[in-house]
Amino acid sequence: MSVIFSFLAETVESFLRHIGKLWYLVNPKETTFEFPQEVPDYQQQIWVPFFLLLILEQIILGKKRFRLNDQITSLSHWMLHETIRIFSRGAEYYAYIAIYERFGRGWNLLIWDSPWTWYISFIAVDFCYYWAHRSNHEVNFLWAYHQVHHSSEEFNLAVGLRQSILQHWCNFVVYLPFALFISPSHFMVHNQLNLIYQLWIHTTVIGNLGPLELIFNTPKHHRVHHGCNLYCLDKNYGGVLIIWDRLFGTFQEEERKEEIIYGLVINTESFNSLYLQVFYLKDLIKKSISMVTWTDKLAVFWKGPSWFPGVPRLGLDEFKIKVKPRIVYDPQIPEWQKLYITVQFLTIFLNHFHLYKSPYNENLNDPWIRYVLANNLVVLISIGLLFDKRTSIYPGIIELARCVIYVYFTHKMDLDNLIDYLTYYVYAFHLFLIWIPYFVYQIYAFVYTLVYGRVRVVEDRKEED
Ligand SMILES: [Zn+2]
Ligand SMILES: [Zn+2]
Repeated sequence: MSVIFSFLAETVESFLRHIGKLWYLVNPKETTFEFPQEVPDYQQQIWVPFFLLLILEQIILGKKRFRLNDQITSLSHWMLHETIRIFSRGAEYYAYIAIYERFGRGWNLLIWDSPWTWYISFIAVDFCYYWAHRSNHEVNFLWAYHQVHHSSEEFNLAVGLRQSILQHWCNFVVYLPFALFISPSHFMVHNQLNLIYQLWIHTTVIGNLGPLELIFNTPKHHRVHHGCNLYCLDKNYGGVLIIWDRLFGTFQEEERKEEIIYGLVINTESFNSLYLQVFYLKDLIKKSISMVTWTDKLAVFWKGPSWFPGVPRLGLDEFKIKVKPRIVYDPQIPEWQKLYITVQFLTIFLNHFHLYKSPYNENLNDPWIRYVLANNLVVLISIGLLFDKRTSIYPGIIELARCVIYVYFTHKMDLDNLIDYLTYYVYAFHLFLIWIPYFVYQIYAFVYTLVYGRVRVVEDRKEED
């Protein structure tokens, strides 16, 4: 009982301590650091308040607006993105730190502990985010990874978690000029808080926020950004502040007369998170090959997604697809599969939190960590195959093999925590009560059809004679 109470107390304490960060409500003094290694992982700290908000949003929206396939796919993208981020944290800041050490530190234009430096960094990071985000939409090879964020046909808090695994690696160049005068620690603080702020704006629950709409990016503005109606395309790129869109001509007010249709202009019918991360690259290469001249073949990569020879860089509205209200991709699967997917996802979700703990995220060579990562990845693939209603024999074979391997190797180990212990029993349960009986039945049905079919053929022949 005391374990449950201490868990609840910890959750409430974490919720209250970190919830302000979701809206950039932090004390500049408490978020100013001299060295990069002192900067906390804010993205990890906000998961408790954010997941509680996510549940609250679904309670407000009601059961009708909940689609398990879409929600779990959004969370799967987050898991993939976070896994890459945990193990590469620091590496994406390498170039920034190197430029600062070479030039910025010596010039010392902004003193690290001055409040002015904190506010200038806030504005500078948000200004750069605007241009990074705009280039993600206007340069086709950058869109190839950013499209993941726009791939949901829903608009809810979970969509905010749909991020490309390459997000940091494709955007970091835009921020580099600030390494000449803003210290890496300020950059790392604001870079994180800027992205965290953008989570809560993915919702239909919040309407008009009055005068705040003039300055800040809000759910109302970001709904337009996620729409694929013609009037919504390439609009509202801002991160925290919407003033950049107003200044640079990309601002668009939400039009109440026209229902916003969410998702990509040409929707990709899949819930396979790995496929959604990379499928556009294939389309991009195909489009490039189809061009006649070498100039056009290369232009496909750096011009906008709607470009083709003879039109401006971003295409022309008259040639763009006018998306009308459409039926969302929502294949129905049996209830037992939904329950199976939910339980499997919960096990990898809990295992994923192991990765935040310091002995784990510091040692990729640890066989247990590799094992957890491989297991999580395979579960995500199986979940995608099941949601897409691919014939159940393939996810079945994958799941049977995965559960056998997991149970075989884990039963020899000393499991020292509740999550590993629960995971072991859940997988053993699935193996002996679902997958082994399922394949025994499949083999029986196959043999029965084979034998019975031959008997029928012999009998039919006898009758004919
Ligand atoms: Zn975008
Ligand atoms: Zn968004």
